[in-house]
Amino acid sequence: MSKRALIKRLTAREQMLALAMINATDSILSFDRDWICRWAGGASLSLLGVANENLPTQRLCNILETNNREVVTLMETFFSGDQYAAILEIAAPHTQDTTIELNFRKVFDAGTVAGAIVTIHDVTQRKLKEDDIARQSESDPMTGLLNRAGFQRRINALINAEHADFSLAYIDADHFKDINDHYGHEAGDTVLKTIAARISHQTRASDIVSRFGGDEFVLAITKNQKDAAATLDRIVHAIHDEPIALDTGETVQISISCGVAPYSVGVSVESLLRQADSALYEAKKAGRNRTCEVSSVIVSPQTPAT
Ligand code: GH3
Ligand code: MG
Repeated sequence: MSKRALIKRLTAREQMLALAMINATDSILSFDRDWICRWAGGASLSLLGVANENLPTQRLCNILETNNREVVTLMETFFSGDQYAAILEIAAPHTQDTTIELNFRKVFDAGTVAGAIVTIHDVTQRKLKEDDIARQSESDPMTGLLNRAGFQRRINALINAEHADFSLAYIDADHFKDINDHYGHEAGDTVLKTIAARISHQTRASDIVSRFGGDEFVLAITKNQKDAAATLDRIVHAIHDEPIALDTGETVQISISCGVAPYSVGVSVESLLRQADSALYEAKKAGRNRTCEVSSVIVSPQTPAT
């Protein structure tokens, strides 16, 4: 091929590559082994908030504006490890509403690792769908509260946080079967929804409120034990003191019983649930419409439920 033809072909290829980069929806970055950006192309401005020409000489963690543990660990281990590729998902640096996926590939030069190519892709829509599915799988469709799985995930996060301080409460509606028997299952559902709403109304955003199933609710009440007793006392009153209106126009009065166990370091969730459940049993035995602590001390004696 003549020199002229070769130049023409190279120019055409360069133009095609430039066109592909201009129209790319991904950002493509090349890094050396010190994670210094050497070259950038594609949609870096929209994905990273930085134009391609301003990326070379910047370090990966500065570009991503993050100390994210996964990113830092990858930067420390990727080149020395055996893995050829890696994928991470993080919030975009310039806007936390965008989730980006980073695809890492090692680049070799004469058999040795010379650096990495990182392709960055917007995965916000996929992440939103995944979050939505996770939310649905963790919520009780009838009351909108967390279900058992949702409770489990939230309580594990609470326990793993430093200085966890909360009480766990087991709540069960009193003589709930009678409502179903007298007014029908739909009326029973209305009562359960109202109980859920009144419990939610008396709790804080930091508390964990869940329906385990049937007429059973489990709460993690954050802050101290005295506070938990006061919260449960308010819930017991809120449910018993105001009759619940049914769709038929009738009203029913219902009460709940609560068992509460304070968390202390080292106690498992299962053990706390057992303790709160046995305190609930005490509350039922003592006449219902009340809260019992795990020690069997009656915290908020009420008039026996009718
Ligand atoms: P106790 O005071 O001892 O708790 O008496 P109880 O009648 O409330 O007995 P229990 O808690 O064992 O009964 C719960 C009932 O809740 C049994 C079941 O028929 C009913 N139930 C379970 N899930 C639902 C539901 O989704 N909707 C309605 N309406 N009823 C339900
Ligand atoms: Mg019950």
